[in-house]
Amino acid sequence: MRWSKLYLPTYKESPSDAEIPSHKLMIRAGAIKKLTSGVYTFLPVGFRVLRKIEAIVREEMDAIGSQEILMPILHPAELYEESGRLQNFGPELFKLNDRKQRMFALGPTHEEVVTDLARAEMRSYRQLPQTLYQILTKFRDEIRPRFGVMRAREFIMKDAYSFHDSDESLEVTYQDMAGAYHRILDRCGLDHMMVEADAGVIGGDVNHEFIVLTEAGESEIFTCSCGYTANSERAESLGQPLSSNESVAEGSPVRVETPGQKTIDEVSAFLEADPSQLVKTLLYRSEGQIVAALIPGDRSLNEVKLMKLLGDPQVQTLGDQEILDVTGAPVGFSGPVGLPKSTRIIADKLLESYEGMIVGANENDAHLRGVKMGRDFVPTETASISEAKAGDTCPRCAKYELVTQRGVELGHIFKLGKKYSRSMNATYLDRDGKDHKFIMGCYGFGVSRAVAAAVEANHDERGIVWPRSITPFHAIVLPINVSDDHTIKVAESIYAELSEQGLDVLFDDRDLRAGFRFKDADLIGVPLRITLGERSLRENKIEIYYRGEDRSELVDPGNVAGLIKAYYDEKPAA
Ligand code: ATP
Ligand code: MG
Repeated sequence: MRWSKLYLPTYKESPSDAEIPSHKLMIRAGAIKKLTSGVYTFLPVGFRVLRKIEAIVREEMDAIGSQEILMPILHPAELYEESGRLQNFGPELFKLNDRKQRMFALGPTHEEVVTDLARAEMRSYRQLPQTLYQILTKFRDEIRPRFGVMRAREFIMKDAYSFHDSDESLEVTYQDMAGAYHRILDRCGLDHMMVEADAGVIGGDVNHEFIVLTEAGESEIFTCSCGYTANSERAESLGQPLSSNESVAEGSPVRVETPGQKTIDEVSAFLEADPSQLVKTLLYRSEGQIVAALIPGDRSLNEVKLMKLLGDPQVQTLGDQEILDVTGAPVGFSGPVGLPKSTRIIADKLLESYEGMIVGANENDAHLRGVKMGRDFVPTETASISEAKAGDTCPRCAKYELVTQRGVELGHIFKLGKKYSRSMNATYLDRDGKDHKFIMGCYGFGVSRAVAAAVEANHDERGIVWPRSITPFHAIVLPINVSDDHTIKVAESIYAELSEQGLDVLFDDRDLRAGFRFKDADLIGVPLRITLGERSLRENKIEIYYRGEDRSELVDPGNVAGLIKAYYDEKPAA
């Protein structure tokens, strides 16, 4: 490929809506182009990378016996009514009507469509197990599309689905998939971890995410040296010992004036108490009932855990006026003592170790000190609903401290069990001719997100540094003086030799300043640059520049092809 013919627009400046390096660099390096919010075109350079990742994914899926199919994007909405996801997916589901006013959805994943296929086609236990996959565009009306193709509204996913007649059979496929995901990410050169995760709107119970470790990732993961790993939605913790404990007031709590002190920081400073001595009371409405969630003052609520506990994905926080109506006090002064009897009070498990607490008094400008759970209020239940923090004691070994890291979620695998086969009545016949619901698994991998994650994990201040297995080009051949016949002759012969070896080579034939072209080469991130200068050629030398190591060496023209081939044959250091 000749650069002068390639559609590769590069930019010096980043677009104003780009917040993280991968988004900035993918635009600047001409890999993607925005059409509208969360919708992107992959330009030639970006598309080459996408194709290479797809090829790796396809090989690893085929290797575990998963079979490729292609399902429709346009889904009749009735299928989502059957599964319950028309409601549960909420506004993230793109919906449209046909000319007869029949409602359709643009597929966000394909559990419904594949379950519909199975209930029609897989009738006998003899046909099981089956694993099907596809690589297809998905649509989700994300509340906050951002980071370019990392969180888009239209994106490419590999999704696989498996059907079984026993839990043991599901377990085998689940482990095969986990192995394939590890290999896919290893082959893409991406440092990653598999963590316990939450099932979200997909459903099911056992599930794991594959997280590529990067500083600007949206996911936070918790790990312990005992081997425990979980994402922040899922992570449990045994908390940390309280640095100071609020003592219990004798008889009943003590009311203290806290004029204008609403936030945890304000109240703790005003009362000279550690934030952990305070207890936050957060009010929600779930299916008509008021829910009060109590958590330590120095922690955040984990809304996913609350949603799961309530079994209600639509749980809503109360507005200011509703808080006033329910508690009799404005926001900032809510507390568990004296709430209406019908309130469901959920106390975080960590509060069980508290002696006394400081809480809002349900009265303007006042708090209560020395409140004792069980005496001054009785929670409906206790459950783990707060977020874990770095430094907390691990829930598994109860010995070491949890450490946090950030990353990008690239894959998510689920044991769905009978969630969809039950709601959509998808059955097969066993050897005695009896009906059973399928046991299912589903396995997603973000192919277009993987391109962005690869950049996020591999770049420097000059641009992208593609992992060698997915680089758009293996090498750039860059003759410095494109008007010098001899230089061009040698460059052409190296270009031809490398291309014959099956390598993807970009020939920079542009008549532009060398410095400008070096900058472009660094920006688009091709691992090797072969530079031909008149002076070194006179000494029969050519420069190979290793982008990732920022190192160059001078070699004989005859050795270039061998060195480059060796570079790509070598397994990169992990
Ligand atoms: P997230 O928590 O990031 O929203 P998710 O849990 O909604 O992800 P899944 O439904 O499990 O994601 O989808 C499988 C995979 O598809 C994800 O692991 C991710 O790699 C990719 N993916 C999901 N949403 C997007 C998106 N908006 N843009 C690009 N890729 C996505
Ligand atoms: Mg999502």
